[in-house]
Amino acid sequence: MAVYGGIELGGTKTVCVVGTGPGAIADRLRIPTAGPHETLERAVAFLAGQDPPVEAVGIAAFGPLDLDPASATFGSVARTPKRGWSGAPVRAIVADAIGVPVAIQMDVGAAAIAEWRWGAASGVGVAVYITVGTGIGAGIVVDGQLLHGLVHPEFGHVPVGRDPADTFAGVCRFHGDCLEGLASGPAVAARTGVPGEQLAADDRVWGLVAAYLGDALAGLILTLAPGRIVLGGGVMDAPRLLAMVRQRIRLGLAGYLDHPALTGDLTDLVVAPALGSDAGPLGAIAAAEAAASAR
Ligand code: ZN
Repeated sequence: MAVYGGIELGGTKTVCVVGTGPGAIADRLRIPTAGPHETLERAVAFLAGQDPPVEAVGIAAFGPLDLDPASATFGSVARTPKRGWSGAPVRAIVADAIGVPVAIQMDVGAAAIAEWRWGAASGVGVAVYITVGTGIGAGIVVDGQLLHGLVHPEFGHVPVGRDPADTFAGVCRFHGDCLEGLASGPAVAARTGVPGEQLAADDRVWGLVAAYLGDALAGLILTLAPGRIVLGGGVMDAPRLLAMVRQRIRLGLAGYLDHPALTGDLTDLVVAPALGSDAGPLGAIAAAEAAASAR
């Protein structure tokens, strides 16, 4: 049976896996993310040393990424504040070193595919996976394919209506108070002086985070009418946040949409991830499998 390699390239750590899906990970390596060549060479050495050999490799990487197959810089990291990574040809480094098909996807897109295929959005026609962590991002899956227009969706940077009492300037380097600027993990930490995991469940910051996420998600629901929204990322670990976000979405939709999934408490529409921190690596495996079958 064919096995695949997956690389989840994260801002601080990189996870490499070998296998075929959830419950079928045969080997795993976790390394700190250093410079592009050092990090990817360690990942390739691990994957190339497998027996049986991997048939293909999938990469789920932080972005922004150039994902246009016709582009000369396909599979490279675009402009990023992360030192040493602007322009890094991630896919080319791995492909040149390992000699099997290599696919690359945004981390959030890979997680979306994994949750659609094996997790909390299994088989849903229009499914959205959103991560709320160091940044905010969305992967949108339509009939099993990631939605990709001119660039990948950048839902984290949508503008949101401010709470009139909220004077926080926001942390986005480009927009200040976009959704990510107001509701990401760094925004929570900048507002309070401590990371979110050290805050009480009833800290007032969670009300603001829920309001901004809920309003943005109401807009997303009105735009895409998704059958499921999976809300992941470290910020969503706050104990009551998911319920508060659902409540805010209901407020935003104001009973306008007449569908059973949209009129109740939204517990079937807006859900927690099923695959946890393995969504990224498993999405990389799914991308590898697709690359092998396209060969
Ligand atoms: Zn922004």
